[in-house]
Amino acid sequence: MIYKRSSALFAEAEKVIPGGVNSPVRAFNGVGGTPIFVKEAKGAYLYDEDGNRLIDYINSWGPMILGHAHEPVVNAVIEKAKKGTSFGMPTEIETQIAELAVSMVPNIDKIRFVNSGTEACMSAVRLARGFTGKDKIIKFAGCYHGHSDSFLIQAGSGASTFGTPNSPGVTKGTAKDTLLATYNDIENVKALVEANKNEIACVIIEPVAGNMGCIPPTKGFLEALRTVCTANNILLIFDEVMTGFRLAKGGAQELYNIKADIACFGKVIGGGLPVGAFAARNEIMNYLAPIGPVYQAGTLSGNPLAMAAGLAMLTELNNKPEIFTSLAEKTAYLHTGIAKVLTENNITHTINRVGSMISIHFDDAEVVDFNSAAKGNNDIFKAFFHGLLNAGVYIAPSAFETWFITDALSYEDLDFTIAAINTVAKTL
Ligand SMILES: *Cc1c(COP(=O)(O)O)cnc(C)c1O
Repeated sequence: MIYKRSSALFAEAEKVIPGGVNSPVRAFNGVGGTPIFVKEAKGAYLYDEDGNRLIDYINSWGPMILGHAHEPVVNAVIEKAKKGTSFGMPTEIETQIAELAVSMVPNIDKIRFVNSGTEACMSAVRLARGFTGKDKIIKFAGCYHGHSDSFLIQAGSGASTFGTPNSPGVTKGTAKDTLLATYNDIENVKALVEANKNEIACVIIEPVAGNMGCIPPTKGFLEALRTVCTANNILLIFDEVMTGFRLAKGGAQELYNIKADIACFGKVIGGGLPVGAFAARNEIMNYLAPIGPVYQAGTLSGNPLAMAAGLAMLTELNNKPEIFTSLAEKTAYLHTGIAKVLTENNITHTINRVGSMISIHFDDAEVVDFNSAAKGNNDIFKAFFHGLLNAGVYIAPSAFETWFITDALSYEDLDFTIAAINTVAKTL
């Protein structure tokens, strides 16, 4: 395929935007080459600026679960836009989407809307600290909760149990309050809790990890985490920015039947517009301003266009819960097909899948945490990525990303993708 115009547009963009992109995951640093510029998209397909059609397995990193330019969502936005795009005053649609979200997600009474997943997680942690009166938090290595300071932390050296900044600009003072645990390792969590008795406000986790490839929780892990949190007066935050309204109507809380204390949302909840949200029971949510002491605000929060898109999206998912079954079936079909052709071509691999989240790791060890995810062969991934791109299949330009399956994919698209992988596998 030819990417002449994309390359030219990227060169222009680089002059005025750092790295030519407004979010680093869009750059091709992990795979080499220049990012593809999108002109438009419909259903399961992207159309780039050079006129290539690509089958899309990123789907805006999750939101387009029903496909691009999904008509009910687009129409809701158009109709709303005609009536004014922002007021900084309450609107009825905010209550409508809140009522719907509260009815779909277990164990929440109230929800506050923000503009991104980052904001949702950042605000949830502040709320947890305010509610418990404690400062420290536990996060898991390899889980992503947005780019706010408390989360940009890597494992400390030597015997230190607290983290160190993994980006310049994050202060040591901030880093010392974030403790880093190993995903799927409950003994590790217990040890951190024991070493920091009565200091931990919350544990934040992706209930299915999706930012180091897809990593399911091992059997009993989330249950054990719930038990440890309850016993130590620690709030359990499920970051469902990726899993919420994707794995089930009620997200991972419903799928695994575990009650989180605070749930964070983003991606699907905005139907492709900038929306995040965090939600909890009344006793916790009533701690928020203006009725409680924990401050949190946003000029564009609950924006009418964003709420219209989100409401249209959630309404579709609520009215047609068979979508979740259909998504899981399509993803399972893809899983079986990919495993078959990779095995036939003697390509070492591990595939992880939960519902409509799936990832391929080019290593044969079980992938259960950040260290095992990092073992994947990146040279093979690069060749795999570019091979698929040439065949018209777009996956994330990084070995650490989950594929987000959209219900707009047909079984012909899936067969085309499996055939493309078979062809590429012969070259690896
Ligand atoms: C994408 C993501 C975020 C951050 O959301 P943004 O809207 O990009 O700020 C947070 N948590 C998880 C699990 C995510 O996948």
